[in-house]
Amino acid sequence: MNYRNVKVKAVLFDYDDTLMDVNDAREYARESVAVRISEMYGIDKAIIMSTLKDTEAHMESLGIFNRKTWFRRIGDLLKIDLRNEIINELVRIYWDSWSLKSRAYPDALPVLTSLRMCGYRLGIVTNTDGEAGLKLARIRRDGMAKFFDVIIVAGDDTDRVKPSPEPFLKALSVLHVLGNEAMYVGDRPSTDIPGARAAGMYTVLIDRGNLMRLDLIEPKPDFLIKTLYDILSILKCHVGNAY
Ligand SMILES: [Mg+2]
Repeated sequence: MNYRNVKVKAVLFDYDDTLMDVNDAREYARESVAVRISEMYGIDKAIIMSTLKDTEAHMESLGIFNRKTWFRRIGDLLKIDLRNEIINELVRIYWDSWSLKSRAYPDALPVLTSLRMCGYRLGIVTNTDGEAGLKLARIRRDGMAKFFDVIIVAGDDTDRVKPSPEPFLKALSVLHVLGNEAMYVGDRPSTDIPGARAAGMYTVLIDRGNLMRLDLIEPKPDFLIKTLYDILSILKCHVGNAY
């Protein structure tokens, strides 16, 4: 990778799967909901789990993040009558379970700390959890909010969600920096790259699992990295002994 001279004032991040390891969280949240539905309706847990997984992929592809909508569809698919209070209970179980198992990746805090010491302003641009306030509350509960100068929850704070440039432009305007003075780091080519690029930002795709090939990724990021530490190399930010 050619770490050409990148001069920015701000580094902005996607949240889930970029800063936060939510693999266990997603699985545990799904499972907790499946257990509850199974208890109430006597349906096999494995069937509920696979229905949930399919629904999750379908809804995310449509940009629908409201778990109430997801669980209503589960009810339709499983042919059970999930009343509103049960839907509300499932949503509560889902996010409580998620929070229990989500944790920052080991490189997240050292890199955020180093970037701060190098004088960068930091931000999050993330999509809504489907209901206003839920995502910001989750970021606070995770203990992550304190690292950031701006947190834009697209869909809560803006009309449009990523990949629209709207949430990126909003973050830039709060920070008073231009697009080419900022860098955005995310893990999904389709949602994270086009909007940040349209806002004029440098784009960085993180591929922790080493699953992607740059020549096959569309749209292409400016940088493809394997760990957040690579950001420090790109920006030539070498401070302290945080790593
Ligand atoms: Mg992500």
